[in-house]
Formats: sequence, structure tokens, C-alpha cells
Amino acid sequence: MARIVVKFGGTSVASVERIRQAARHVKREVDAGHEVAVVVSAMSGKTNELVGWVNEASPLHDAREYDAVVASGEQVTAGLMAIVLSEMGIQSRSFAGWQVPIRTDDAHGAARITEIDPTELDKRMKDGWVPVITGFQGISPHGRVTTLGRGGSDTSAVAVAAAVKADRCDIYTDVDGVYTTDPRIVPKAQRLTRISFEEMLEMASLGAKVLMIRSVEMAMAYKVPLLVRSSFDDPDAPQLAPDGTPGVPGTLVCDEDEIVEKQIVSGVTLAKAEAKITLRDVKDNPGVAAAIFGTLADQGIIVDMIVQNIADDGATTDITFTVPDSEYDKAVKTLQNAGDRIEYARLSGSKGGAKVSVVGVGMRSHAGVASSMFKALADKGINIQLITTSEIKTSVLIDEQYAELAVRALHTYYGLDKKDA
Ligand code: ADP
Ligand code: ASP
Ligand code: MG
Repeated sequence: MARIVVKFGGTSVASVERIRQAARHVKREVDAGHEVAVVVSAMSGKTNELVGWVNEASPLHDAREYDAVVASGEQVTAGLMAIVLSEMGIQSRSFAGWQVPIRTDDAHGAARITEIDPTELDKRMKDGWVPVITGFQGISPHGRVTTLGRGGSDTSAVAVAAAVKADRCDIYTDVDGVYTTDPRIVPKAQRLTRISFEEMLEMASLGAKVLMIRSVEMAMAYKVPLLVRSSFDDPDAPQLAPDGTPGVPGTLVCDEDEIVEKQIVSGVTLAKAEAKITLRDVKDNPGVAAAIFGTLADQGIIVDMIVQNIADDGATTDITFTVPDSEYDKAVKTLQNAGDRIEYARLSGSKGGAKVSVVGVGMRSHAGVASSMFKALADKGINIQLITTSEIKTSVLIDEQYAELAVRALHTYYGLDKKDA
């Protein structure tokens, strides 16, 4: 017998019919003798609708009220899931974040979970109940509802799994696992049988939105094995591992040492809507980078890639960095207004870049991945604007119009295409 936390994403609970199908997956696990807790997202599209209403009511709304409104989507699906499970003969009760309670800090709209009290969930599961918990939300130190940021139900699920010491956390979504790249862009993408936490973290950070970044960080820290699988599979079909043997279907996100065959490149990711800003002839004094990026951070602007040239005249340098397109105007204005603290000659920039990355733990021990990536892009006539690397990834910024072409070219180049496609 195992203890499993299962999470259903928006498309998996998009209607009462879909909730019924999801509940059949829960029933299979309960019938197999496992203890199960469920975490649900809102119906797909619901959170966007709620966010739209908040902005329509007032673009300058109070973040506490934003959370009060957008957290409601998960309350609906949690209640419906508990009703459907009960109808199937499974004792079930819904819990909103505050009822568990899932405690968070008070960063409304992007709160971080600080503590989950497992007592009630633990008791329910031991007594044969299936608790259904609203994803995406918790309660602040001031007793107000908070939300965890978009895609946050993944994080709720992993946090609950860690709190109740689950053996596994199953993330049910609309794809049957983690693929070498987004299967919507590259139909030849292959499902990975296993992927390490580290690679998954890079892939999530670099644009693969199949799992929220924070959920992977948390799974890695608390050593919760994650299984990504599809809720669209027949719940009553025999459970087969990707190699066809009895087991769990989908992709297991686990420790690197549990992976036998290590790929040099495991995946290719794409993040669009990246804007580039260049400051020319910046006074090259100690503290200048701290002043630029400190000023942007004070405004809550998240900077991604950063490149600084060596000053050839010993006095000035150029600095280029990227921010999301949505933050471009704010970043430009912030830097223009900081002219007294940051001395530079000119500011230029543009929106509409795309960051394409290759990820793989094998890069640690193999030289030449970066150069082969640049060659593969050059062969397609794609110009590289910026480059950043880490131990297990190489990223380039290119023009958005070549994004899909670049992803497909790299996917083929590194031998990731499905053999029979
Ligand atoms: P949910 O609503 O279940 O949380 P999401 O839409 O957040 O689902 O995430 C699932 C989607 O992530 C898939 O439909 C797929 O298009 C996308 N995706 C992006 N990159 C990958 C990848 N490498 N592997 C699998 N899916 C990916
Ligand atoms: N419903 C929330 C969102 O759409 C949380 C989630 O689905 O994970 O962002
Ligand atoms: Mg999601």
C-alpha cells in the first residue's frame, strides 16, 4: 500500500464529465488499497476569466481582493470532485487552502507556502477518506486567502505530498508525460521515461510549462518522486510503464542516480515574448551592475539573461539584458528615470525575442554542446543575439519569428525525433 497525492490540472477538470473521468483514476488507486489525497486546479479557462473580471473592475485593484476572486475557481472543482467521488462510493471531503490549513507568506498573487499542517489530512486518509484540496492557494499570516501564482496547483500538490509524507505525487494533465520538447510545436517529440529533478527544473524555468518551477524545486528538496501522466487515459486499462511492463505510465521525475541512460541533451525548450534592452557606454565603476539591476528589482522587474562587455577603453561598457515583453515599457521608464544614479550614453531595445535552450545533465561531461548548437542554428540561417550557459543548459536569444524553426532544428540535430515519425 502506498500513499499518493494526485493532482488534476485545468483540462482534467474542465467539466463535470471530465471530473467524473478524473475521479475514476482516483477510484482505481483507492481500489488498489492506496491512501489518496487529491489536489485540483480550476476548470480550464476559469482562472483567466476571473483575472479578466478583476482587471475590468479596476486595473489598480488591491492584491488581496485579486486573490479573493481568483482563488474561487478551485473551490468549485474541489467541491464537485468530492461530490462525484462520494457518488462512486468513496468517502470524500473538500478542503479549501485555509481549512487544511496551507500557510503562506503574504505576497498576494505570488505567495510561497511556509507550512502545511498534515493532521487533518493524515487522519482522513488513515480513516479511509479521500480529502480533495483546492490547489493554487493558502492563507496568509493575516488570515487572508492568498494565491501562489499561475500554474500554482502543481506546487500545492507537491507541498501536500511532502507534508503527508506521500510515496509519490501524480500530476495528471493533458499530455501523457514530459516530452523532449513541447509536443504542440514538434509532433516528433518523444516522451521521456524518466527525467532528473535538475533537468526538469531547467526545462520548467526555460519555458516548458508542464510543471510549475516551484513545484519541481520543492519535489527536489523534499525528495518527492513526481509522475506526470494523462487524465485522458482509460482509467480501467492495465497500468503499463512506458516500456510496456506493468507499472506506472507517464514520466517519472526523480533523482539523477535513478536514471541509467543519461542523455547529453534531454530536451529543447522555448520561451517567447522576451524583450532585450541595451545600455551603451555605461560608466564602468564598481557597483554599476548592482545599481542597474537593483533599481529594476526594486520595481519587481525580473531580469533573465545578462551580458556585459569588457570595457575596451577602461571607462565605459555596454550591458544587455532581457525582461519579459510585458515588463519592457516599465523597465525602460525605470532606467530613464534613474539617470542620476546610473550613467549611460544611450538606451536601445526591442520586444519580440525568443529564448531557445537545450538541457541535459550529460553536458557536464561532454564538451562542445554549445558550439554544435550554434552550428545547427547557423545552418538554418538563424542569427543569435545573446547566449547564456549553465552547467546543464545552453540558451540563445533569437528573433521570435524563427522560434519554432530553431526548436525543430535542434530537436532533430540532437537525435531527439521519434524514430518512426
Ligand atoms: P495543466 O492544466 O494540467 O496544469 P498545463 O497546460 O499547465 O496543464 O501543462 C501541460 C502542457 O504543457 C501540455 O499541454 C504541453 O503543451 C505543454 N508542454 C510544454 N512543454 C512540454 C514538454 N516538454 N512536455 C510535455 N508538455 C509540455
Ligand atoms: N488555476 C490556476 C491557474 O490557472 C492554477 C493552476 O491551474 O495550476 O493558474
Ligand atoms: Mg499547469
